[in-house]
Amino acid sequence: PVDLRYVRDHLAQVQENIQRRGVDVNATLVVQLYERFCALTAEVDLVRKQRNEVAARMKNMQKLSPEERSECIALGKQLKERVTALEAELAETEQQLYAEAVRIPNRTHPDAPVGGEDQARLLRMAGKPRDFTDFSPKDHVELAQRLDIVDFEAAAKVAGARFYFLRNAGAMLELALVNWAMQHLTGKHGFIPLIAPDLVREETVWGCGFQPRGEASQVYSVADTSLCLAGTAEIPLGGYYANEILDETQLPIKMAAVSHCFRREAGAAGTETRGLYRVHQFTKVEMFVLSRPEESDRVHQELRSIEEELFDALGLHYRVLDMPTRELGNPAYRKFDIEAWMPGRNAFGEISSASNCTDYQARRLNIRYREQVSEKLRFVHTLNATACAVPRMIVSILENFQEKDGSVTIPQVLRPFLAGLERIQVP
Ligand code: AMP
Repeated sequence: PVDLRYVRDHLAQVQENIQRRGVDVNATLVVQLYERFCALTAEVDLVRKQRNEVAARMKNMQKLSPEERSECIALGKQLKERVTALEAELAETEQQLYAEAVRIPNRTHPDAPVGGEDQARLLRMAGKPRDFTDFSPKDHVELAQRLDIVDFEAAAKVAGARFYFLRNAGAMLELALVNWAMQHLTGKHGFIPLIAPDLVREETVWGCGFQPRGEASQVYSVADTSLCLAGTAEIPLGGYYANEILDETQLPIKMAAVSHCFRREAGAAGTETRGLYRVHQFTKVEMFVLSRPEESDRVHQELRSIEEELFDALGLHYRVLDMPTRELGNPAYRKFDIEAWMPGRNAFGEISSASNCTDYQARRLNIRYREQVSEKLRFVHTLNATACAVPRMIVSILENFQEKDGSVTIPQVLRPFLAGLERIQVP
């Protein structure tokens, strides 16, 4: 799953990349283990060959003198013991190598800003904040409760904190958002529409670069099975072509899926516990693309512009950020986040994220394609981007399009999906 030759031949660059991303991985150890692994492999091969030669000689035992025969037997025994010992050492080295090597993050786009969150580069500011001179805006929790479109109390009873029921126009609004986003992606941009499984194998979770288990894992695992609840449709979509060899003419493959996303939000205790902003389960429309390596930068920009199209159509005030190295996570080579203005928080809040993961996931998931001219096998590049993360869309719509009387105006583009509803009124 890792290009070890690249790590060995570009150690200084790999170390610099690790440092810029602020992750704790020992690339020198990886190279040492890799070299040991290669030497042991060569030695095992050599000793196996010698053993085969001795075995061949022993087949013609009758031609040998008694001394030669016992010499042969002793040598055969010695070589067998040597192979067994070497194989055990090789297996252990391979295990250590694997454990450390898979922690190496992806390479980084040369234009990605170096540093932490505060180094995010502003790429674009779209729209303007809504003018609230004639009344002070309420936050989405207060609005939703007055409109009777979300019920947090009932959800707390059945599932706990950070869960919600969507009711009345709230439930219909989720369906409208999903339908609108799916129609835009499949109709205008030729994405394949999919409904993805919410449960996924651990190995698929791992293949996409997530930690399936453990204290710090963001993933819920299902007891007595090797299944996890998918945190995003990126996982089932990433696994869709695992262990396959695609034809170059099939690329790019553009998929758009609706799925439920489940997040433990471990470590988020106390922050944003109110409302729909950070919840344990939500519905999302996700874009996922498999592309030729030469095309992935262009596809990444295309995904970003599709997201912008969607948020422009809703009339949101938002900013696009080129995310810095420490914010990329291991799989992403480059990441664009979009944050919308949320009057209830009096701040921008993340509504989407578009990542180019280059060959990081493809190596782990083993997704390759055959080049048309050379017939060579190469890893594809994978990209993922949020089209519509429903709860944060609802937060944005409620807070930005609220009226003085507590009603909320529905963006024009969603009305056809809501039987023409123009406004959610206070009952
Ligand atoms: P991610 O897959 O983490 O990049 O998240 C994709 C998008 O889903 C984010 O940009 C948010 O809009 C939304 N999101 C992420 N986590 C949550 C959560 N816990 N609750 C609600 N929305 C979320």
